Amino acid sequence: MPSDDASRRLADVRESIAKAARAANRSPDSVTLVAVSKTHNAPAIQPLIAAGQRVFGENRVQEAQGKWPALRDATPGIELHLVGQLQSNKADDAVALFDAIHSLDRPSLVTALARAMDKAGRRPACFVQVNIGDEPQKGGCAIGSLPALVKEARAADLPLAGLMCVPPLDLEPAPYFALLARLARDCGLNGLSMGMSSDYPTAVTLGATHVRVGTALFGTRP
Ligand SMILES: *Cc1c(COP(=O)(O)O)cnc(C)c1O
Repeated sequence: MPSDDASRRLADVRESIAKAARAANRSPDSVTLVAVSKTHNAPAIQPLIAAGQRVFGENRVQEAQGKWPALRDATPGIELHLVGQLQSNKADDAVALFDAIHSLDRPSLVTALARAMDKAGRRPACFVQVNIGDEPQKGGCAIGSLPALVKEARAADLPLAGLMCVPPLDLEPAPYFALLARLARDCGLNGLSMGMSSDYPTAVTLGATHVRVGTALFGTRP
């Protein structure tokens, strides 16, 4: 992607975030833009780094291991977030590489991450992913299981940052974002990872602290 393209897209997304934040009486600084770079290679990512973006998201541990160590060596201050499902046997790798994990969704992963963090002496922030639309094919814990999972995560001393969701495709997302915000309040959590390219302004209006935007920044995935 040409670099003027990257900086224009980044400026557009940041402006949309700022507009939505101001409309909701929030500071634009209260929203972290996670640039989801999955499937894109280093030459596609570099222009966005050059334009000032520092927080990136990937959905596969192995893919991230392949491209991020070199990109990170070249630019200090990069923050890497895992936004995809995590297998327990990849917990060590995930804890070593990522600064935040948005897909904590089951007790066995609480155990695996706690063990990995103790071993590594490194504690990435964790978001509990909620299956907000109760969809059988989707990741995330059931709404009914959320209080118990949050309790287990706290007991295991995981640094809980908030909740994360991906609302059902093709349905109005606002009610799902509002529901996630209410669930987070009920759990005493402040972070809300919600909103993607098609709906991040709505998510910001409803309290998102982290929006995960890929296509609007990088174009269509290969
Ligand atoms: C791919 C992905 C995104 C980004 O999606 P876009 O529609 O390209 O913005 C956000 N969150 C998760 C969990 C993803 O897998």
